[in-house]
Amino acid sequence: MRQARRAGLLLLLLAAAATARDFPQPQRVADGVYVLEGAREHFSRANAGDIANTGFIATPAGAVVIDTGASLRYGQAQRAAVRATTGPDAVQVYITHAHPDHFLGNQAYADVPVQALPAAAERIAQRGDQLAQNLYLLVGSAMAGTAVQAPGALPVPMPDTVVFGGRRLQLIALQGHSAADLAVFDEATGTLFAGDLVFFERAPTTPDADLPTWLAALDRLARLPVRVLVPGHGPVVRGAEAIAQTRDYLRWVQRTLTEAAAQGLDMNEAMRLQAPERLRRLAVLQAEWQRTVMHLYPAIEAGSLPRPSH
Ligand SMILES: [Zn+2]
Repeated sequence: MRQARRAGLLLLLLAAAATARDFPQPQRVADGVYVLEGAREHFSRANAGDIANTGFIATPAGAVVIDTGASLRYGQAQRAAVRATTGPDAVQVYITHAHPDHFLGNQAYADVPVQALPAAAERIAQRGDQLAQNLYLLVGSAMAGTAVQAPGALPVPMPDTVVFGGRRLQLIALQGHSAADLAVFDEATGTLFAGDLVFFERAPTTPDADLPTWLAALDRLARLPVRVLVPGHGPVVRGAEAIAQTRDYLRWVQRTLTEAAAQGLDMNEAMRLQAPERLRRLAVLQAEWQRTVMHLYPAIEAGSLPRPSH
């Protein structure tokens, strides 16, 4: 009898654990600012595509949501968390960029303005289905019911500052991680939602990267009076350390690939190059480095070939 009760209790605990894993839990990182931290991993069935950070800022007028995650289910759970945490519902959603782990929860906000930079909105409208399909292959049934809902385009010229319920947010249009990267800075708390311009303790992804442009974007972010930084992936951190780490990594990538091309290494040889000690603790470093070589090396190699003389 006692054993049966114990088994029942165990089942209950297992069910609770499964629920906790299914639904992202918001953590308060500053006054009125909440973050749902994703797994420091690549997409898998086990993590259900929940690898990116998302968040929301509570204001008296309602919550401003930044990114909606990788699936309809994630978006629904996120919106439930917004309501449970802040009381007022979401009034505005900003999408930082056109990568599928950041916008595929948009369907949960069909009755709320969802906006992105024009180039990001356009890319999602044009290529979103393909990006979603790739994610279906990697993540599987956790994506059930997910369809692309493209965000609206932010106006051009975009206002530097928007105000919700007296809370001022700076909207900062940059690029480099992708063709259009939006950062959101909450002036009241000094919290920067950097999108994927900043990664922390997790190797950056580079499928659409332009390294010099990305490094310039980091210089711009470093000039903000950042007290709390929410990276696109990895833990939330006080101060601007994560900007420095992302810059360090990207400079290493740029230098290493340029030198590899100058030495005539082929792609496989370049993939075997090792990061310096201080960067080796970054999550998924090996896998991301191999992808980065595939993404960026061909162009760098082509640029380094001696020009034919006529
Ligand atoms: Zn991204």
